[in-house]
Amino acid sequence: MVALEYTLTNEAGELLDGASADEPLEYLHGADNLIPGLESALDGREVGEKIRVQVPPEQGYGPREGPGPQPVPRDAFPDDLELEPGMQFVSEDEDGDEFPVWVARVEDGTVYVDVDHPLAGQVLNFEVTVLSVREATGEEMAHGHPHPGGCCEPDDDEDT
Ligand code: ZN
Repeated sequence: MVALEYTLTNEAGELLDGASADEPLEYLHGADNLIPGLESALDGREVGEKIRVQVPPEQGYGPREGPGPQPVPRDAFPDDLELEPGMQFVSEDEDGDEFPVWVARVEDGTVYVDVDHPLAGQVLNFEVTVLSVREATGEEMAHGHPHPGGCCEPDDDEDT
């Protein structure tokens, strides 16, 4: 179980995401918690090491494959939910197969959703510091992800 401090910037140098030492990103190494290009760069690293890694789309969130953001009426979403870019929802095709979509933007009562992850097609620049490494608990190993609060979220029914 590894805790990371990191920043993620795009090719233009804009900050996209990150985690500070106060609220680090914790992940289970070897369990595909991270995108492949980042996880492989962290192989064998030790506490205190700082690395820079550039991850191409193929090793990140994949290429862009969809038609781009598509309009969906606002009332297709729960009333009381404040919709923000980057939020993920599950949609269904005609056969009832589920697939993820992400909110790209909200404009005048219309929500634009995209079948591609917001970071698909982007070269990602990570600057990462390894803060700590510990043994995973048996439960964490069984679930394949961290349990920083002691157990899974109650609504995380796939895991419980
Ligand atoms: Zn779990």
